[in-house]
Amino acid sequence: MTSVLERFLRYVQYDTQSDERATSCPSTAKQLVLLSDLAAELRDLGLRDAAVDTYGYVMATVPSTSCKPAVPTIGFIAHVDTSPELSGANVTPIVHRQYDGRDLVLPDDPSAVLRPADIPELNEHVGDDIVTASGATLLGADDKAGVAEIVTAAEHLLTHPDVPHGPIRIAFTPDEEVGRGTAHFDVTRFGASCAYTMDGGGRGEVESESFSADAMTVTFSGFNTHPGYARGRMVNAIKVAAAFINDLPVDRQSPETTEGHEGFVHPYVLQAGVEKTAVRLLIRDFQTGGLKDKECLVEQLAHHAVKRFPGARVDIAIEESYRNMKEILDQHPKVVGYACDAVRRAGLEVRSHPIRGGTDGSKLAFMGLPTPNIFAGEHNFHSRLEWVAVQDMEKAVEVIVHLCRIWEERS
Ligand SMILES: [Zn+2]
Repeated sequence: MTSVLERFLRYVQYDTQSDERATSCPSTAKQLVLLSDLAAELRDLGLRDAAVDTYGYVMATVPSTSCKPAVPTIGFIAHVDTSPELSGANVTPIVHRQYDGRDLVLPDDPSAVLRPADIPELNEHVGDDIVTASGATLLGADDKAGVAEIVTAAEHLLTHPDVPHGPIRIAFTPDEEVGRGTAHFDVTRFGASCAYTMDGGGRGEVESESFSADAMTVTFSGFNTHPGYARGRMVNAIKVAAAFINDLPVDRQSPETTEGHEGFVHPYVLQAGVEKTAVRLLIRDFQTGGLKDKECLVEQLAHHAVKRFPGARVDIAIEESYRNMKEILDQHPKVVGYACDAVRRAGLEVRSHPIRGGTDGSKLAFMGLPTPNIFAGEHNFHSRLEWVAVQDMEKAVEVIVHLCRIWEERS
């Protein structure tokens, strides 16, 4: 048996950064190296059907050991890519054995320090083994912790055929970090009645609620002419956009001033020119209906800005990004309920917070695969200070095994 830590330390050494500018699937060829090796590893463990498809998705099956005829097929999913925000090349993982509660200074950069004063969760892990990177890169626990946990749980099930469970499907996916992790996910071929992403934070977390999200593009058109001869003729789209941005809420409905279940309107890209200036905005709310209210506000403010600049025009486009998976999960209460029971059976307290973002589950739920998110142990995602506790990864493996048993027991 290979431990979850050994696997994790091996996987983080693959550079699997995704790239939002690329149009290929997967967005970077280097993700395929780990994906292919994972398929080979699963085959070596005895999962005969493990294979990578043309888009890089790995799927495999742990066959049923149950004598019951109708145990539902359930799935476990993790993504192999790491965030484009920070290098994931030449990761040097460090295992800090039996963490003593002091600051952890990372060797490659003395300014990279994990301080319990800034990161209170560290205080819950005194005595545990903490894995970090060396200070120059991210670690990649998001989501190679999830990958290592699923492979280790699969090995456990295969070497313990006495443990009764139904058919278990496994998927490893590319490009989650660039929002395309489910673009080519074939739900029918996966063939599970529900699934769990292993991609959450601290131990005990079960997440069943995400934002509903749209993206808006507000494009202001003006009229460009030589600035020396512009009197009475030029209409500067940059100034119209500036007036619009200036009117957006600052002390409310913005990412900087909201938490919990509050949504926001967030301008995040500006392409500016005198003739045309486009503002990209993220719209977020836990109620899909609440998106509409925020979009109306944006539209009103855009038209208000245009009125101040005669000759200016505005075009507004809205794209759906994803929806709160709770809308679907509420129709399948066993899926989240059994996950919570598995967490308790592993001796942990269930923690549940609304995800102020989306997960692959937010898309998969609406593609017909109810998929809440279970903790993988990741902390400080996308940061040089990313860390994971070995004991949390071991608990996550236990939770997967318990969950497989619970679905069998209750069907
Ligand atoms: Zn992730």
